[in-house]
Amino acid sequence: MSNPETTHHVKPAGAKDAANPSQTMAFQAEVAQLLKLVTHSLYSNPEIFLRELVSNASDACDKLRFESLNNAALLESDPDLKVRISFDKDAKTLTITDNGIGLSEQEAIDNLGTIAKSGTRDFVANMSGDQKNDSQLIGQFGVGFYSGFIVADRITVESRRAGLPAAQGVRWASEGTGEFEVAQIERAERGTSITLHLKDDAQDYLNAYKLKGVINKYSDHISLPILMEKEEWKDGELISPTDPEGGRQPGGMAKTGEWETVNQAAALWTRAKKDITQEQYDEFYKQISYDQNAPLATTHNRVEGATEYTQLLFIPSKAPMDMFNRDKAAGVKLYVKRVFIMDDAQALMPVYLRFVKGVVDSADLPLNVSRELLQESRAVKAIREGCTKRVLGMIEDLAKHNALPAASTDGVTDVVSDEDKAMVGKFDTFYAEFGAVLKEGLGEDFANRDRIAKLLRFASSTTDTATVSLTDYKARMKDGQDAIYYITADTLAAAKSSPQLEIFRKKGIEVLLMADRVDEWALNYLHEFDGTPLQSVAKGAVDLGKLQDEDEKKAAELAQTEFKPTLDKLKQALKGVASDVRATSRLVDSPACLVVQDGDMSTQLARMLKQAGQAVPEVKPILEVNAEHPLVKKLVDSSNFDDLAHIIFDQALLAEGGMPADPAAYVKRVNALLV
Ligand code: ADP
Repeated sequence: MSNPETTHHVKPAGAKDAANPSQTMAFQAEVAQLLKLVTHSLYSNPEIFLRELVSNASDACDKLRFESLNNAALLESDPDLKVRISFDKDAKTLTITDNGIGLSEQEAIDNLGTIAKSGTRDFVANMSGDQKNDSQLIGQFGVGFYSGFIVADRITVESRRAGLPAAQGVRWASEGTGEFEVAQIERAERGTSITLHLKDDAQDYLNAYKLKGVINKYSDHISLPILMEKEEWKDGELISPTDPEGGRQPGGMAKTGEWETVNQAAALWTRAKKDITQEQYDEFYKQISYDQNAPLATTHNRVEGATEYTQLLFIPSKAPMDMFNRDKAAGVKLYVKRVFIMDDAQALMPVYLRFVKGVVDSADLPLNVSRELLQESRAVKAIREGCTKRVLGMIEDLAKHNALPAASTDGVTDVVSDEDKAMVGKFDTFYAEFGAVLKEGLGEDFANRDRIAKLLRFASSTTDTATVSLTDYKARMKDGQDAIYYITADTLAAAKSSPQLEIFRKKGIEVLLMADRVDEWALNYLHEFDGTPLQSVAKGAVDLGKLQDEDEKKAAELAQTEFKPTLDKLKQALKGVASDVRATSRLVDSPACLVVQDGDMSTQLARMLKQAGQAVPEVKPILEVNAEHPLVKKLVDSSNFDDLAHIIFDQALLAEGGMPADPAAYVKRVNALLV
């Protein structure tokens, strides 16, 4: 990423500023783009600017607290971290001040002139130009500091980094168009003051009552105190800060010089569950996740035992755009004794639950815990196990309540609670968004494999819905069926029309259809469910076991012997492409299909990996032919045996979504037949 460029010096060295002229710099192109969006499309919910700035102030205090663990001198003589909000009616300014970590001049240039967060950069790259779309999208990322320009036509930032001398303060100012100015200033106080010069249509924020309302709505749970100056009637009549009448005649109020805390200043998760409303949980979730939608499920617990911790975890209702990036940071923040330690603590959640957002706060970890240390800590292991169980429990709960209980037949009407009604369909939503990620758990979390397997849902050859659980499947198995059959393909449509299913369809045996990229890999780890083995119908020989009657078995054996000379000839003709050729009983209408050895990678998976640029071991498939098929019968004494053999092979490849190795040769052979 390029640093902002210095375009020119606006202020030539004047008398007072001779040593510290201010410089004008251009915003990085992405910031300029983002600013345009902020000022033009985000007016629908302008008050979020306060939430963003207070949250930055709180982060700055968290950072200072964290750095001061190793360097107490950074706290100077001002150890009580807090945020102050003040306004000046005459100047039409609103100022948010924190005594957190602060910014050096270079940090102000870098952090306020470029977009550092990759997520936000991706977002800017994806902006469509459609305002409605973009402003919805942006909710996923948060615009942070720049949201100040929703309400301000000029922002001035004054700051000093903790540990730097007063002479190395910085002033940053911008009108939110293409440029900003920076200058070195003298600043005694550590931390940052952000002053918004409010636009004409944003003057209602010059009102204590209004500001308190917004703080209450968005920032109540911030663990730092947020202070505002107490106001009084000019004639001496004191107005309660929560009195709605307080806004009646704001002109008649005067500041008293006394500051009061206007938020609860207790981190949400430290409060008792019974004192927290779902709205408060939802609001907290929205802030930590940048999601505009309420979460699908919430859990909040104090876990006692060998390792003690508090968990506040959420399952979102929508997957983020980059969910399939397994390296993507996890969504759980780690606190130790209420001190923020790190975002995205991957050690706290298995990778397949990376969509979970929330907070874990433990008293059993050292404050100076590092990411490396986290990996090895026994306490962290216990927390991860506990959180995993809890999240699986939440998902099970969604599954259990996905549909209302069927009306009872005994005439007694069940009373369905509103809570139950509200749960209907939530599991479907969850599964549509996160089902594919959950499947990764089969390969990742052996201890919980059975619980995960129970939560999986599939399409099947005998139903039109994609909601078949393995439990449902088992309940519908035919007498004599001793395996759960499934097929993987590139798409559900391809799975459904695969020749491999023909015999199963003829016999009315259900086959699970799978087309998620992760399916084949994940299913490799699930050898059985509740005592019944899983069997891919495209791998190994079909063994329908007891489902095959005596006549069928005889016919199959006969085919192998009587047909042997033809099979040998086919093997010879297809030496380069097929590892074996054999007769099969799995086909009914199709002349041939491809299968792989049990344990080998399917041809689709190999194809997919190749497309993704990965090295795949060359595995030649087995061609299985249907000795009953007219085309195959014709083959036996045909004069152009080799050409027919290759056509049959290539067609089997086409039928499962593959491509003949030499498409032109294939066309030539077919055309030769047609004429
Ligand atoms: P972010 O999502 O990273 O907070 P912002 O655009 O809100 O993005 O802020 C950009 C960066 O500016 C922050 O990451 C932080 O480094 C810095 N910053 C913003 N506000 C403050 C503040 N009050 N004190 C110190 N640094 C701040």
